This record gives sequence, structure tokens and C-alpha cells, in this order.
Amino acid sequence: MRIPALALLAVVFSGAVPAPAQFGGVLGRARQKIEESRQKAKPVTDRAEKAAAIRPWTDEEEQQIGRATAAKMVAMFGVVEEPAVVRYINLVGATVARQAPRKMPYRFAVLDTEIVGAFALPGGYVFLTKGALLRMENEAQLAGALGHEVVHIAERHLETEIRSKRGSAWAIEEAQAQQLPLDQSIRQRADAFLHDLFNMRLSQDKEDAADRDGALMASRAGYSPRGLLTFLERMAQVNQSEENKRLFGQLLSTHPSFESRMQALQQTVAAAGDRGELLEARFRGAVPH
Ligand SMILES: [Zn+2]
Repeated sequence: MRIPALALLAVVFSGAVPAPAQFGGVLGRARQKIEESRQKAKPVTDRAEKAAAIRPWTDEEEQQIGRATAAKMVAMFGVVEEPAVVRYINLVGATVARQAPRKMPYRFAVLDTEIVGAFALPGGYVFLTKGALLRMENEAQLAGALGHEVVHIAERHLETEIRSKRGSAWAIEEAQAQQLPLDQSIRQRADAFLHDLFNMRLSQDKEDAADRDGALMASRAGYSPRGLLTFLERMAQVNQSEENKRLFGQLLSTHPSFESRMQALQQTVAAAGDRGELLEARFRGAVPH
């Protein structure tokens, strides 16, 4: 099955027109493709590690890799296309992202899967899963969770992480990229990036920074800083299926533990003060449970 993923991407992030969302079975095939692409690239590991260490992405590369990776995520999982939900998550996301330390066009979408997780891709693309959204209770939790992802993007956390890891699929691909035509290079680097996204965990200091700054951004936007904390408390209790363990993503990685993250976040929340909105009724109205 061939999926016009880039075309669909434009639709789901603008929320304009319904599009086909039947991607059953695509996830497994996409994973296989990503793995094949990674295997092909293996022999140049040493060169790759050197290349990866040298030069950070330009803003343009970041946008291109992010867009290609986001298209693959959409193709793998499908996205929730109800215009009201698309509008709502982009409204809340944009409100929080206005407080971000790096300005860029942040975009938000809901992956159509029961898996609980969230992903921050280069170039401003934030994905929350339907499974995560349905476990939230109010808009402050959503704002905190989206803020967490926005911080990962603003600070280029994943790019920094994969540059620092030996044998990251992306680092290997990066070394070959110089030899390829640009569109092919972007495609292959997106495959490799996605592989790392699913297989690497961010360091504790990056997760703590995303929790802290995400909660503070939500607070400055007018939400209760407790939103992210109470969402993490709920998530700590979620039954962790095998699928969830693999795909928890960058919001809900289980290493570092929820307990240590919540402990660190408590101090931020206490310092921010007990104020701001929860907006439970508006959340319930916008997200049908
Ligand atoms: Zn995270």
C-alpha cells in the first residue's frame, strides 16, 4: 500500500479536510523498512561517528528531517482527524509554545493508537497518542505534556542525544548523507532518526529539564503548574504492556523512573505557586471520552 503521507501530513496539522486513516499493518512494515535501512548503512560506523560529532543540523535540515519523519509517523499510526480535536490540541499547544525558548512553527497532532506516549520530532512536530489524551483529566495536564515535548524540540534534546551515542542509526546515516542527492538523503536520515526515536531514551537531565521547563511554560501561559505532575502520577499507574514499554516515547519513558521525575518536578511546582487554571470542563467538552 502506498500512502501519500506528506499530503496527509499537511491535512492533519491544518485540520482542513478529512483523509483516509486506514493504516492497519503498516506499523510492522514500516519498522522493517527502517531496520533494513539501518542495516545497509552499518559498514561506515567509524566515519559516521566522526561525521556526527562535527556539525549540528542547520535550521533547514532540521525542518526537512522533521517533516519527513513526521510523515512516516503519520503513515505508521494514522492520526485523529476530527477537526474539533485537531483544532483544540493545536490551540492548547500553540498557547504553551508561545512561551518556548526557541521560536519556530510548532505543530501538534494526535496519533490514532491506544498506545500511551508522546513524541517530539525535529522541526516543531509534536505527536501525542490518543491513548495518552484519553487518560488526561483536564487542559492543564494536556498543556504540561505538550510543554514537555516542546522543550525537547526547542533544546534539540534528541539530536544532542543521538550525537552522543555510539552506533546510533542516525549517526551512521549522517555519514553517508554527503554522498546522496538531497531528497534521498533526507528520506534515509528520517528512517534512521525514527529508528533512534523508538530505541533510545533521553538522559535523566534532559527529561528533568523538559518536565521543569514544560511545567513552567504551561504556568506562564496561565495553566496550573500541577498539570504535568498530576498526569505523570496517573501514568505511573498505567498498566505497562510490552508495546507501551517500547513506544512510550519521550514523555513517558520509564527510565528515569516516574518516581524520580515526579520528585524533581514537585520542587518546580511548589516554587511556581498554587495558581493557574485546570480547565477540566473545557477539556471534557473538546475531547470526547
Ligand atoms: Zn521527555
